[in-house]
Amino acid sequence: MVSKICIFASFRTAKVRKKVKSEKLIVKNYLFFVAFFRFKQKKHYFCSMNSSFTPQLEQWYEAYGRDLPWRRTRDPYLIMLSEYILQQTQVVQGMDYYHRFAERFPTAESLAEASEEEVLRLWQGLGYYSRARHLHAAAKQIAEAGHFPRDYGFVRALPGVGDYTAAAIMSFAFDEPYAVLDGNVQRVLARHFGISEPVDSTQGKKLLRALANEMLDRQHPALYNQAIMDFGALQCKPSAPACETCPLVETCQAKRDHLVDKLPVKAKRTAVRDRYFTYIYTRTADGQTLLHRRGSGDIWQGLFEFPLIESEKPLTMAEIEGLLPSGEAGGELQLIAQNVLHQLTHQRLHADFYCLTLPNTNSKWTDNKWINESDLDRYALPRLLEKLLEKL
Ligand code: SF4
Repeated sequence: MVSKICIFASFRTAKVRKKVKSEKLIVKNYLFFVAFFRFKQKKHYFCSMNSSFTPQLEQWYEAYGRDLPWRRTRDPYLIMLSEYILQQTQVVQGMDYYHRFAERFPTAESLAEASEEEVLRLWQGLGYYSRARHLHAAAKQIAEAGHFPRDYGFVRALPGVGDYTAAAIMSFAFDEPYAVLDGNVQRVLARHFGISEPVDSTQGKKLLRALANEMLDRQHPALYNQAIMDFGALQCKPSAPACETCPLVETCQAKRDHLVDKLPVKAKRTAVRDRYFTYIYTRTADGQTLLHRRGSGDIWQGLFEFPLIESEKPLTMAEIEGLLPSGEAGGELQLIAQNVLHQLTHQRLHADFYCLTLPNTNSKWTDNKWINESDLDRYALPRLLEKLLEKL
């Protein structure tokens, strides 16, 4: 048995070594190609560009890096919490959510014991609710394990955790040498090393992954990862990067070749689908309103919303009146807001918002239930509905 494990372990080690070797080869080939090209142009400054990159980034970070609450801890659960929140969310917007979650659920066990409804309620307004469900499921797995394992395989297999989040948790919490590669890092590497391969192509991803691993400071992975991420967010920004004060300006290929606004290159454009939602905020004179919970297989799973009519195009008031269940006909329908746009990653929602006042609760809307309007804030609503309610 032991020998079997040893053979397996040495096989894995050999595999890992082979992978690292092939990554190094990709970077070496690339660097050789660029160096050769530069040499031909009598501009062979590539070696200094390569060796000074990491120390200069770290020096910059010591002076200008952000002081963020999740960087003051090595608690892997709190670091994981911040990473789930920061997926698709800016630091400024996520800060308040980090504090409220860390305060309400200071440990993975406390989060694991909460109901999904409470977790979604606390997440309300942050969007991309699948992150909250994944975070909740991850907390349950950690609680089940009895502790937060220092194991890349375990972390990478948690729901909602990809290569980036796993590398961030392992390096920030345990100082394990895993290089992060998010949009900020891709941009810095593509510009500084003049990579024109599309960052979303197979070749571009391979090259950037290899380059990220090559540049990683293996003695101080947390410091390096934080440095390059902050550098991308604050200095080498998507638009109007601060090249005039950049410590890497001397070795930056994009700057030298006037390609700063061209890099990084993206091959694919994400197709965006338009959807038309008409919400009927149905209420009675004695303060009752209708609500239902969204099911699975679509956006906002598990969140609550008012009766909804989805259509291929915007509806007129006459069309809406024709679609109301018979019990609602005769109620007073009033337009509150029209064509309110709400952008999701792959969808653009066009929402109309109507208020329907009824004399009583004899509603025929299926799957909706009557609740007291005063209890509305106990239900997790999508951000779009919060926006619409502000228009009342
Ligand atoms: S010189 Fe400009 S483009 Fe190049 S790394 Fe610095 S900020 Fe980014």
